[in-house]
Amino acid sequence: MQDRFDAIIVGGGLVGQALALALVAHGLDVAVIERSDPEAHLAPEFDGRASAIASSTARMLRKLGLAETFDREGCTIRAIRVTEGLSPRHLHFDSAEAEPAEPLGTMLENRMLRVALLARVRETVGIELVAPADIAAIGRGADRATVTLASGRMLAAPVILGCDGRHSGLRRDAGIRTANWRYDATAIVSMLAHEKPHEHVASELFFPDGPFAQLPMNDLPDGRHRSALVWTVRSSEAEGIKALSARAIAREAEKRMGGFLGRLELLAPASSFPLGLHHAERYWANRLILVGDAAHAIHPIAGQGLNMGLRDVAALAEVLSSSARIGMDLGHPDVARRYERWRRGDNWATAFATDGLVRLFGLPGRLPQEVRSFGLAAVNRMPRLRQAFMRVARGEGGDLPPLLRGELG
Ligand SMILES: Cc1cc2nc3c(=O)[nH]c(=O)nc-3n(C[C@H](O)[C@H](O)[C@H](O)COP(=O)(O)OP(=O)(O)OC[C@H]3O[C@@H](n4cnc5c(N)ncnc54)[C@H](O)[C@@H]3O)c2cc1C
Repeated sequence: MQDRFDAIIVGGGLVGQALALALVAHGLDVAVIERSDPEAHLAPEFDGRASAIASSTARMLRKLGLAETFDREGCTIRAIRVTEGLSPRHLHFDSAEAEPAEPLGTMLENRMLRVALLARVRETVGIELVAPADIAAIGRGADRATVTLASGRMLAAPVILGCDGRHSGLRRDAGIRTANWRYDATAIVSMLAHEKPHEHVASELFFPDGPFAQLPMNDLPDGRHRSALVWTVRSSEAEGIKALSARAIAREAEKRMGGFLGRLELLAPASSFPLGLHHAERYWANRLILVGDAAHAIHPIAGQGLNMGLRDVAALAEVLSSSARIGMDLGHPDVARRYERWRRGDNWATAFATDGLVRLFGLPGRLPQEVRSFGLAAVNRMPRLRQAFMRVARGEGGDLPPLLRGELG
C-alpha cells in the first residue's frame, strides 16, 4: 500500500518548508519528510542565526503567507556600509539610490522564520508533514520514486525533491559529486544589544582574520537597540573566542566596531559555524532534484545562501507546476533540466562572487589593504556600479520566476 503525492520533499528546513508552500500554492500535493522533531527547531538554542532576506525572496515569502511575520518581526536594511577595518574610506549602499527605492533586504531571526513556516505548513491543506521520521529506503525506478519509512509506511511520487541540506544523503546516494572546499574560517554568531540606534544600517568591516558584520534587528520590547553579529575568525581561534565570557566578547566586538554603536551587551550565547563552499556537479538524477544547501552552499559574507535556496524554490515551483498543467511526468529528465538551466548560472555567479570577495579581503599585508580601501572608495564614487551591486544583492537580476515578483504563475 503506497500513499501517493505529486512530489515528496525530503528535509523540512527553511528551504523544504518554503518549497512545500510554493508547490501547494500551485495546486500540487506534497509530503515533507523531516527526520527531526519540528518542535525542536523552534527552541531558541536550535538556530541562533538571523538571515538577511533579499527583497525578491521577501516578496515570495509574503505571498506564501508570511507577510505578518515580516511586518511584525522584520527589520528593514536601509543601507549597507562596507569598510576595510576601521578605515574612514568606505563604500555606502543606500536604498534611496536603488531602483525601485525599496529596502535592500529584511533581517529576520531564523527562529521566527521557522515558527511562521511551520505554522503555515501545518495549516495548509495539501501538505502532509511526516516528522520525526527515519527513511529506511528510497527507490527511484523507471515510472515512480518511493520512500519507505522505518515505520514501514511507503510513500510514492513521480519525483523526490532533496532539501536535506549541506551534507545531503540523497545527493551522496545518487552519486552526484560536488566542487567543494573549506575556508580556514568559522563564523561566530550572536545577538547584540547596543547603546546607540543602528538607523537600519548594516556594517561589514573587513579585518585580516575575516569579515565582521553587524546586521540591524528590531528593538527589544524594553526599547534596547539590537543587531545580529556574524564575526568570522580563523578556525583555530573560534573555540577560544567562544570560551570567553559574554562581557569579554562584547568588549572585543566594541573594539572591532570602533564604538560606533556605543556600549554592547551580548544577548545570546555565541554559536559557531565552520565555513565552506560546495556546488553539486548536477542538480538532478533519475527522479531526484536537489534544492537549497543540498545543491550549493557558500560563505555567509554577503548573506546570500538562503536567498539562493529560496530562488531555487521559486523557479522549481514554476517548472513543476507548468509541467503538471500540460500533463508531463514530473520525474522526467526534461523537467529537471529546465530547473537546472534556470538556476545554475545564478547560483554559480553568486558562489563565485562571494568566494572572490572572501579571497580578496583575506589577502594579508599592508599593500592589499591600501588597494582594497582605495577600491572601496573608488566604487563609492560610481553610482551606476553601486546600483548594479544593489540590484544583485536584492536578487532582482535575471529572469525572475513569478513568485519572486510576488505573483503566482
Ligand atoms: C553563519 C551563517 C549565517 C548565514 N546568514 C545568511 C543570511 O543572512 N542570508 C542568507 O540568505 N543565508 C544565510 N546563511 C545560509 C543559510 O543559513 C542556509 O543556506 C540555509 O539555512 C539552508 O537551508 P536548507 O533548508 O537548504 O538546509 P538545512 O537548514 O540544512 O535543512 C535541511 C533539513 O533536512 C533535514 N534532513 C537531513 N537529512 C534528512 C533525511 N535523511 N531525512 C529527513 N530529513 C533530513 C535536516 O534535519 C534539516 O531540517 C547563513 C549561513 C551561516 C552558516
